[in-house]
Amino acid sequence: MKIHLLYTAVVFFCQRLCRFAFVFAVLLSGSHAYAEIKVITDFPGGSGSVLDIDQQQRIIRLMPTDHPGRGWRCWWYVRLTGLTSGEAITLEVGDAPWATPDQATWSGDNGKSWQHTMPGKRNGKLIRYSITPESESILVAWGPPFVPSDAKALVSKLATASSSAESFNLCRTREGRDTPALRVKTAPNLPLIWIQARQHAWESGSSWVCRGFAEWLISDAAEAVQIRKSAEIVIVPIMDIDNVHRGAGGKSQSPQDHNRDWSDQPHWRAVAAAQTEIGAAAAEARLAAFVDLHNPAAGNRQPYYYIPPRDILPPPGRSNLELFLKTSVNHINGPLPVSNRPIESGPKYDPKMWQFISKNWVARLGTPAISVTLETAWNTPNSTTDGYLAVGRQLGLTLAETLDSADLKPANPEKDTSK
Ligand SMILES: [Zn+2]
Repeated sequence: MKIHLLYTAVVFFCQRLCRFAFVFAVLLSGSHAYAEIKVITDFPGGSGSVLDIDQQQRIIRLMPTDHPGRGWRCWWYVRLTGLTSGEAITLEVGDAPWATPDQATWSGDNGKSWQHTMPGKRNGKLIRYSITPESESILVAWGPPFVPSDAKALVSKLATASSSAESFNLCRTREGRDTPALRVKTAPNLPLIWIQARQHAWESGSSWVCRGFAEWLISDAAEAVQIRKSAEIVIVPIMDIDNVHRGAGGKSQSPQDHNRDWSDQPHWRAVAAAQTEIGAAAAEARLAAFVDLHNPAAGNRQPYYYIPPRDILPPPGRSNLELFLKTSVNHINGPLPVSNRPIESGPKYDPKMWQFISKNWVARLGTPAISVTLETAWNTPNSTTDGYLAVGRQLGLTLAETLDSADLKPANPEKDTSK
C-alpha cells in the first residue's frame, strides 16, 4: 500500500514537471509553435536574395538576386515553405520601382494559376505584401512567371493542336539551351508576320501577351482562320532564354542589351536567327509585320507602342502603320486599352543606338511592313494573366483586320524576287 502511494506520488510529480517543462519551452520559443519559413530559389527563373526572416512576426525580407552583368536587378520569384494555412505572412521587397509592383503575383497551386496580392504598403523604396496562404507552400513573384519550359509546353501544345503549326528551335543559345518557337504556315510564300517577346528577361507579362496571341491564332475564331490562310506566322515566346532561366533582369546587360543588338554583327544568337528569317522575307517582298512584345516602366499605366521614326518609312509603310495603330485602338480596348499616342523611338530617343533597336532594324529594311514594339502595362490591377492574354488576342484581331486591307506591295520592285 505504501509503495503504491509512493508510486502514485512520483508519477504525479513527474507529470507536473513535464507539463511545466513543456509550457516553459513554449514560452521560451514564442507564443506559437509555427514551422520555420524557408525561401527557395533554385529552380528555373528563381530569384530572391534573403535579407532576413522574422520567424515570429512571419516577415520575409528579400531583394532580387544580383547577377552582375546580366541586366537590371528587378526580377524576383521565390517559393516559400513552412507556412501555416490561414495565417498571414508579410513579404517585404525592395528597392527599385522596377522591382516593386503595386501588387505582387502568387500561386497556391504550384503555378497552375496566378493571382494578384492585395496592393502592397510602400515605405520609401520598400513595399510590403500581405498574403494569407491556404497551404504550406506558395510561389510569389514580381509578375506571372513564364519560363523556358512554359515556352516549350506552349509551342508543343499548339503544334499538336493544329496541322498547319510546327514547333521549332529558333537557335541554340550561347549557354546551350533551345529557344522554342512556333511556325504556322498553310502555303508557301505567304506574307510573314513575326511576333516575339522577352528580349528583356524580367518582362514576363510580354510572354503572356505572346501566349494570348498564339492560342488565339490556333483557335477557331473566324479572324484567326482567315489570318492563318493569308500569312505565315512565326512566334517566339522568349528571346533571352538564358536570362529567363537564370532569373536575371536582362535589360541593359553586358555586352549588349538584346534590343540594341540588331546590328550587322549581333552578339545574341536569337537576334541573329530572327534577322536571317526576317531579312530573307523582306528580300522576297513578303514581310508583312513585326511585333516586339515588352513591358514598360512602372509608371506607365496603359499599353502603348513604340514606332520607328515615320520619316524613315516608305509612304506605303507609313500608311500601313497608321492603319495598324488606328485598328489597334479599336481592338485593344480593355481591360488593358492601348494608348492612341504611339512614341517614335528614333535618334532623339537613343542617339547612339536607335538603329539597333529591333523594330527600327526591321523598318530600315525599307519594306512597307508594319514594325512596332508593344509595351503592355504591368503595374495595374488588370496586369494579370487574364489581362495579358486578352491583349494578345486583341493584337491578333488587330493584325487580321489591318493586313486584310494593308498595301504590302514592295516599295522597291527590284527587291521583289518572289516572281
Ligand atoms: Zn523591354
